[in-house]
Amino acid sequence: MAPIPGSGLAKGLAVTLRTMTKKSHTAQYPDAQPDLPPRTRGVIGLFEENCTVCMLCARECPDWCIYIDSHKETIPAAAPGGRERSRNVLDRFAIDFALCMYCGICIEVCPFDALFWSPEFEYAETDIHDLTHERDKLREWMWTVPEPPALDPGAEEPKELAAARKAAEKLAATRAAEATQAPRAAGADPAPPASGTDEPQPPAEGGTA
Ligand code: SF4
Ligand code: SF4
Repeated sequence: MAPIPGSGLAKGLAVTLRTMTKKSHTAQYPDAQPDLPPRTRGVIGLFEENCTVCMLCARECPDWCIYIDSHKETIPAAAPGGRERSRNVLDRFAIDFALCMYCGICIEVCPFDALFWSPEFEYAETDIHDLTHERDKLREWMWTVPEPPALDPGAEEPKELAAARKAAEKLAATRAAEATQAPRAAGADPAPPASGTDEPQPPAEGGTA
């Protein structure tokens, strides 16, 4: 059957009228900030203290956009006769966000929880070279990483938290013990016993109470 002349126009007008009466979903960015979910892949933050320079993230990155430089440092033996140890010291850690495809593999493979997603996304640059974020900038992003969601009630405490809690309790106990010993050490130096014996001496006559 041949289409009725003007039916296409009528259909188009019907769609226009229908949409005109609906509420708009346009986000008024940048006047209104978007309400992003906490696991949004915005930018990567580096928690440098956790990084052991194992290079896993750089090796697994499909875009080869993680640059790491390091050197070895020798730590003297803790006790006489012990062995010296060597450790990696981080010299450079950078991510080129012009190449990054936000796959998250580096964060997944990091065995020491040194990399995190932040939902921050406002880091556009006019010069592409500025999209290579060095370690200081990557550390700054760490402060924008949201807290992890609370554990389910009755869930087992994660082993990292349990280890951190035990270490904090041990430190607090050591500090408390030091605090109680400090006044004793300050008031130490008791006068030697007058009679040369270890027995307590009676107070001297005429002394004040
Ligand atoms: S998110 Fe993917 S592409 Fe980007 S740095 Fe990590 S591993 Fe490389
Ligand atoms: S995988 Fe983690 S610990 Fe290893 S170099 Fe990368 S950020 Fe550092």
